[in-house]
Parts: sequence; C-alpha cells; structure tokens
Amino acid sequence: MAKIFCIANQKGGVGKTTTTVNLAAGLAKVGQRVLLVDLDPQGNATMGSGIDKRSLELSVYDVLLESAAVAEARVRSEKCGYDVLGANRELAGAEVELVGIERREKRLKQALAAVDAEYDFVLIDCPPSLSLLTLNGLCSAHGVVVPMQCEYFALEGLSDLVNTIKQVHANLNKDLQIIGLLRVMFDPRITLQQQVSEQLKSHFGEKVFDTVIPRNVRLAEAPSYGLPGVVFDPSARGSVAFVEFAKEMVNRLAKKATKGPIAP
Ligand code: ADP
Ligand code: MG
Repeated sequence: MAKIFCIANQKGGVGKTTTTVNLAAGLAKVGQRVLLVDLDPQGNATMGSGIDKRSLELSVYDVLLESAAVAEARVRSEKCGYDVLGANRELAGAEVELVGIERREKRLKQALAAVDAEYDFVLIDCPPSLSLLTLNGLCSAHGVVVPMQCEYFALEGLSDLVNTIKQVHANLNKDLQIIGLLRVMFDPRITLQQQVSEQLKSHFGEKVFDTVIPRNVRLAEAPSYGLPGVVFDPSARGSVAFVEFAKEMVNRLAKKATKGPIAP
C-alpha cells in the first residue's frame, strides 16, 4: 500500500515545491516507486520534474473532475525516475467547478485508490492556501510533511495549519497526522535560525525531522533546468541533504510500522 503524504504550508515561498520534487527524486534514488501529484495551479512541481505544463493532455484537473483516471493522466519523468500527475492553470477553475458536487473533497482520494498498489509513496504538492484543492490533498493523505523556514513568525503561522489538520482529522480523514516538520533553507550562521530551530524541537519533539535542508543555491537553480536539485547536481549540499531526508523518511516508516500509529 502506498504511503500518501501532503507537502503543505499555507505560506508561499517556504519550500513546499522544492521539498516535493527533491523528496520524490531522493526516494526514487533509494529504490522507491513514487507518484508526485501537483495540486498547485502554478504547476511548479510539474515543470520542476521536467514535464512541460503547457503540453499536458490530461492533468490532475481532469482527475478531480472525473473525466480521466490517474493511470491515463500521469506522465513518466524519465530523468527523475518518478511519475507525475501534473497541473497547470486549468486547475484554478476546479475550485469553482467542484462547488456543489457531492463529496468534492474526496475526489483525489478516490482517484488515487486505483493506483495505490503501483507506488510506495505518493507525494502531493499543495498550493499556498487552505483551499478546496489543499483539502483534497489532506483528505487523501496519511500524513503531512511541513517544510518551514526557521524565522521569527514560523511558529505563529504553524498554528493555522495545525488546526486545519486537526479538523480534517476529526471530521474527514481519521488517518491524517503530522508526519513531521522539515527545517529548510537553513543557515546555521544566523543565530535567530538556530534559536527558532531549538524552539521547534522543544515544542514538537520527535515531530521535527533530524535532517536539516541547508540554504543552497544549486537547489534554487535546478528548476530552471526542469530538474530537482537531487538530479541536477547530486553532489550539492542541498541535494545530499534531500537524499538523507528520503532515507530518514523510509526509516521512520519502517520503525513506525512496528510501533503503531501516533495521533496528530
Ligand atoms: P513554495 O512551493 O512553498 O512556494 P518553493 O519550493 O517554490 O516554495 O521555494 C521558494 C523559492 O525558494 C524558490 O525560488 C526555490 O528555488 C527557493 N528555495 C527553496 N528551497 C531552497 C533552499 N534550500 N536553498 C535555496 N533556495 C531554496
Ligand atoms: Mg510551490
């Protein structure tokens, strides 16, 4: 059975897409079968996986509106080693078109069930909002991975997301939990970042991943080549960190399988 994770944070520019494409590539590198679902109409995760969003014949939009199955709409990214259910601007309209449709927040979950056996991981890149699209992601997932920068307002911004996750857990998806918080764009020379990082650890304990993703220009350059950093420059510090993160994820799940689930 595939583990389905949303990469979510309602703030924009915090590293969701970078985390999604690099975790997907890292997991593929360590032998996992991965499907990346782009739920952001900006289509950055699609482009960043080497798939041209403008030339998609079918996308996650068609899947949400039930005019295509995941198996028809997904595309293989040969260079990256994983499959992509892509997105483009069309997806922005789905929000409106889904209003009034029954079980509209469960569309993605139902669609993913059909390909469940084909993957070890499904990673969903969420838009920077707590919209119906994000809700479809959260309803489909077993867990949420929250990338965050160690900045002054980081903890404050987190409470909205944590509350949303709690509500979805209580009302729509009892499987949902926070898998962990990932510290990204980290610069250890900045004292404030170290302080916030310590605060995060004292508030969230084991929910903070051990791996820290450094600020690394190669990760920022990679999307313009249509590649995740992990594929574009595997020896860059940021890429090495993302492969470490993929391993940590696989190990955590192996451990948890023997311990049983933890509530959010
Ligand atoms: P989001 O999906 O949350 O909006 P992105 O992943 O697109 O965020 O990241 C925002 C910007 O920060 C992008 O330009 C990206 O290339 C850059 N970025 C992300 N992670 C890193 C990092 N670890 N080091 C340097 N730049 C990064
Ligand atoms: Mg993004």
